[in-house]
Amino acid sequence: MPHINLHGRDISYEIEYRPRRRHPAIQITETGQVRVLLPAEWPTPDAERILQDKATWVLRHLAIVGPMPPAVWENGQPVYWLGHCYRLAWDPALKRPSVVLDEEYCRVGGPADAMKFTIKGWMRQEAQVYLPRRLGEWAEHLALAPSRVKVGEYKTRWGYCRSDGLIALNWRLMQAPQSIMDYVIVHELIHLRHLHHQPSFWQSVAEVLPDYQARRQALREWEPVLKW
Ligand SMILES: [Zn+2]
Repeated sequence: MPHINLHGRDISYEIEYRPRRRHPAIQITETGQVRVLLPAEWPTPDAERILQDKATWVLRHLAIVGPMPPAVWENGQPVYWLGHCYRLAWDPALKRPSVVLDEEYCRVGGPADAMKFTIKGWMRQEAQVYLPRRLGEWAEHLALAPSRVKVGEYKTRWGYCRSDGLIALNWRLMQAPQSIMDYVIVHELIHLRHLHHQPSFWQSVAEVLPDYQARRQALREWEPVLKW
């Protein structure tokens, strides 16, 4: 069975020719098998491109039908930062555990078998500065003032707002495109006005981000990439 690397995960798939189809499609069976359905005249290598184009969709659906294998942390795998994809490269020239992003690579120093740990530590540290600053910009723009901002790791939430005005943000948002991060930030800031998800809350969100529904959907699609 052919394999493909989708966002760092090794996925096996099968190709089926369906002479009556006019367009290719991807199917995921109840057991989690990925199938690419190709019209009769379609070239087989195109299946890879079709899967790459729908990578987040495939990963999302696999997460629903069964647990995904843990991400492999080795050279060449994708690392996401502010929505950009970098290739992971262990760099022995970096003497201590550290991370350097250049145009194409996420270069990591320190022990090669601790790259995941090193990257996570670096991302969390960067998030402590970046997320509160970004939230501060939005707060000023919206004339809203949280009592406190904290950045942490939360298993099931991207952020939350407490009735005492504290806003918490998940460091994993640093991997997502700015537009998705901004949606979470605005969502939590609007909770300072509406501490619920009634229509009045969503109306306020829509006044700030008219395309918030598309951003919310994009966040769902990014989830398999952000969580590891
Ligand atoms: Zn909410």
